[in-house]
Amino acid sequence: MSEFVITPPATPSVAVAGSNARFPVRRVFCVGRNYAAHAREMGKDPDREPPFFFMKPADAVVAAEGVIPYPPATNELHHEVEMVVALGGGGAGVAAEDALSLVWGYGVGLDLTRRDMQAVAKEMSRPWDLAKGFDASAPCSALRPASEIGHPADARISLEVNGVVKQSGTLKEMIWSVAEVISHLSRFVTLAPGDLIFSGTPAGVGSLQPGDRVRGVVDGVAEFDFEIGSAAQEA
Ligand code: MN
Repeated sequence: MSEFVITPPATPSVAVAGSNARFPVRRVFCVGRNYAAHAREMGKDPDREPPFFFMKPADAVVAAEGVIPYPPATNELHHEVEMVVALGGGGAGVAAEDALSLVWGYGVGLDLTRRDMQAVAKEMSRPWDLAKGFDASAPCSALRPASEIGHPADARISLEVNGVVKQSGTLKEMIWSVAEVISHLSRFVTLAPGDLIFSGTPAGVGSLQPGDRVRGVVDGVAEFDFEIGSAAQEA
């Protein structure tokens, strides 16, 4: 049996509510502009766009509690609250009517974004990767199994910063439902157990500052509450 030349990296994972068990993370997919009002606030027409996807590294997922660091190389860190879908099954070419059978459970997370860096990337037709996929860019609540809560379809999703509501919507406003998102995504990759899908954000995205208290909720599913740490020193 061969050995690794360095210690194998730990498997990133997410807590499971009310349990000591954890959900292991394989990959993190994110849906862009899945709520019409957010697409409009980003200057896009929500009616003419099929869902599109980007990714974050699996170890960008961290527990949405305590202090989350303010990342380097940005002056415009944006919050995007999103329902997180955790897959316990996989497959390619999954039909929308079969897609929910792949879902193990749900949580709520934050698609943290270096908006200034993303704007430069868009302007210069460069990849978004480092605007979206930095360390601790995917804080996530504990997950709840679908066997317990079912498949939420019309719950309220919201985000407060320092007690002020900044983002508020319902899952019903999603342009592409969770089942449709899974089906679309499975045309591009073979989905697998451990994959997380950040399902898009309602309108109201905005900046976070060091010291901000950030609270996200999907009613009846999950919630989180954490603080943004101090800004990294620029070298
Ligand atoms: Mn997002």
